[in-house]
Amino acid sequence: MSARVIDGKAVAAKLREEYRSRIIQMQQGLGVTPGLAVILVGENPASQVYVRNKIKDCNEVGIRSEFIKLPETISQAELLAHIDKLNADAATHGILIQLPLPKHVEIRKVLERISVDKDVDGFHLYNVGGLVTGHQVFPPCTPFGVQKLLEHENIELDGRNVVVVGASNIVGKPVAMMLMQKDATVSICHHKTRDLAQYTMLADILVVAAGVPGLIIPQMVRTGAVVIDVGINRLPDGRIVGDVDFEGVRKKASFISPVPGGVGPMTRAMLLHNTLLSAERSSRPA
Ligand code: NAP
Repeated sequence: MSARVIDGKAVAAKLREEYRSRIIQMQQGLGVTPGLAVILVGENPASQVYVRNKIKDCNEVGIRSEFIKLPETISQAELLAHIDKLNADAATHGILIQLPLPKHVEIRKVLERISVDKDVDGFHLYNVGGLVTGHQVFPPCTPFGVQKLLEHENIELDGRNVVVVGASNIVGKPVAMMLMQKDATVSICHHKTRDLAQYTMLADILVVAAGVPGLIIPQMVRTGAVVIDVGINRLPDGRIVGDVDFEGVRKKASFISPVPGGVGPMTRAMLLHNTLLSAERSSRPA
């Protein structure tokens, strides 16, 4: 068996086209342009690349982006004041704080300050709680990207065994909740899980988000399983790889997402989706 390789880059490009048309319609019909504010605190080189890409994506689909670059030394109160200003600005439909933040800033306080209606990253506690009950305002971008990839490939979730490796607040836990809302039976594994393979072998759909290159080898995958690799790891030789032994596992799986070119582009596209959704909601007559 050789797995079908899920082309996240192509799926994301198709979605961007769709968002672009919806944005043009919105501008022509309502005179509204969706707006995203991106706040970057400090000089983290990886964060700078992520922010640059997000702004490039916005430009491509016609979202107005506002880049707010703040010094590493900014006080928490000043940062909160920036968020308050954006919360009150009708032309800003989404607010994104690029993580990580400097150590002297309490991340939760900052994320909780963003208006729930503009929390396009989906990290506000209200949004996180909504994931549990199925009433989220904005689906968090990476988990939503995983769900969209599965939908695009017509992979059924109803009643199937999903195993998520990784239990972080931004990927593992929300992706598990979202797929459970789609009626999958979900197990979540983390670094203290005993005998990881015993779980992964049960998976019809295996979602891996541990940040450990080569963690999932073919012996840990059931023949015909769907494997979604969320991991992004830079090797000492500069190569970017996921958490799955791609070449080995693709011979056993039915579908596999590559790294790069799998979940990463979808995460970026989902931010555009959420910003557009926010603008559409705020333009609806009350
Ligand atoms: P994280 O906060 O470090 O969480 C990693 C999770 O994996 C933790 O729950 C950890 O367990 C678990 N884990 C670590 N080693 C393990 C092992 N050997 N066996 C089983 N579980 C293990 O990382 P994250 O932010 O969720 O990101 C995970 C990966 O996804 C990273 O490579 C990151 O770069 C990537 N990522 C990709 C995208 C994208 O768009 N493609 C977006 C976000 C993140 P404990 O909880 O017990 O410590």
